[in-house]
Amino acid sequence: MSSTLERPAVHPKARLSTEHYQLLIGGRWRDASDGATITVTSPSAGETLATIPEATKDDVDAAVAAARTAFATWSRTSVTERSQVLLRIADLIEEHADFLATVESMDNGKPIRETTGADIPLGVDHFRYFAGVIRGEEGSATMVDENMLNLILTEPLGVVAQIVPWNFPFLMACWKLAPALAAGDTVVFKPSSSTSLSVLELARLITENHVLPDGVLNVVTGSGTKSGEYLQHADIDKIAFTGSTEVGRGIGIAAAEKIIPSTLELGGKSANIFFDDCDLDLAMEGIGLGILFNQGQVCSAGSRIFVQCSFLDTFMQRATEEFRNVRVGDPLDPSTQMGAQVNETQLAKILSYVDIGRSEGATVAVGGRRLTHGDLGRGVFMEPTLLTDVDNSMRVAREEIFGPVGVVIPFDDEDEVIALANDSTYGLGGGVFTSDLGRAIRVARGVRTGRVWVNTYNQFPAGAPFGGYKESGIGRETHKMILHSYTQTKNVLINLARKPGGMYVPPEH
Ligand code: NAD
Repeated sequence: MSSTLERPAVHPKARLSTEHYQLLIGGRWRDASDGATITVTSPSAGETLATIPEATKDDVDAAVAAARTAFATWSRTSVTERSQVLLRIADLIEEHADFLATVESMDNGKPIRETTGADIPLGVDHFRYFAGVIRGEEGSATMVDENMLNLILTEPLGVVAQIVPWNFPFLMACWKLAPALAAGDTVVFKPSSSTSLSVLELARLITENHVLPDGVLNVVTGSGTKSGEYLQHADIDKIAFTGSTEVGRGIGIAAAEKIIPSTLELGGKSANIFFDDCDLDLAMEGIGLGILFNQGQVCSAGSRIFVQCSFLDTFMQRATEEFRNVRVGDPLDPSTQMGAQVNETQLAKILSYVDIGRSEGATVAVGGRRLTHGDLGRGVFMEPTLLTDVDNSMRVAREEIFGPVGVVIPFDDEDEVIALANDSTYGLGGGVFTSDLGRAIRVARGVRTGRVWVNTYNQFPAGAPFGGYKESGIGRETHKMILHSYTQTKNVLINLARKPGGMYVPPEH
């Protein structure tokens, strides 16, 4: 394993706009009402980056009230205006792409090659996609019969709460904000307390450039058990949540009690399936994209790696070699392939799963340890890891580890691997590597998940709907169909007849 951490993990040129962030409520930046803060630490260098406010219930209620006030006018803006606002936000992100990518890498620990190549440009593209989509949205008008005009109108929904996790803080913000703003809703947005900086910087750019009216976008920061809980129980009209299945279940229940819609993007334990006729180079990239991308902290991670028995030895020989050669190090070094895990708690959880795997009879084929040599000791770094001698009933094959730890499970044929892939409470992603198109489609259709990649993995283009089956969630994002969950349908029935129908007043009257 090579270390690239030869200079301070916080690049000298990297500057946050402030060391003390504030809440954005009704267009104004302010501290938490009781002044409480949370310290944000660099996962790669262990040093303090900044403080963020721990929002109180009063702060959350104030943000919701500001969003409610702003809704009265924002909901009446024209589609053209909203589309232009989204395009302006996309331009702003693009103008500040290097800065935002650096902030994201500093805050989250993900490599700069990922933030510059994926998180930030995908965020730009999502705003542009929804700027276009909203222009194409149409209501409809039909004649029920000769006298009845049936108008179907789409109206903004109201005040939307949006809560996202720490693994893709900026991209998840773009996935959620773009459709909500396009639909004419106002937003109270809560990032994870571990990774709030990139969305706060985006909100700063939006407010400094007067892109949105005050109160349309509000950002409250803080822990899930405080600001998250306050927000899910506040006076909102919808909640959009991305995070763990455990927390998502509670949010779904709270939404049901309030009788408001919720969309839930939750966890996964996805099957990445390799048949012996696959291209081995594509397969090696696919296994890396599946379980090493974002340090394995991806909801759709290809964490269950199913390999056809007939080429298991060839596959494992090459995979262990590739995993050993992954460059783990300073997230801000462009050559780094894998950065830091998000924090000590997460790393401890990942390492505990390696131990659980061992105690269940698994073998660590490669990796399995924390990296501590040189400057890596200052951060939270982990070896790319593969466990073998695993079967699908073990905890390491059933529970979400959320780190660079793949479990390798052999299989013989298509039917067997489809059954194994489906033997999971989750149903988010999945991959199939094969040269046989018919087989790829059969397996893709057989696997009960919301997304299947063929001969690639973890690609997230705008326009491709993403979301889960089973306990992986409800709803689809990154596609125009999400607009339906941010809008209401209004039906207007208009009688065009010149005379009464005859129910109470005779037609001849
Ligand atoms: P988490 O569920 O702990 O937290 C997610 C967000 O919810 C955070 O902002 C957190 O502060 C907040 N939160 C926590 N408890 C809350 C509560 N009681 N009420 C309201 N809000 C609360 O998840 P995490 O550890 O930040 O992220 C990892 C999880 O997210 C994984 O399970 C991963 O699979 C999932 N995820 C899913 C998707 C997807 O699109 N399906 C994408 C990314 C991550």
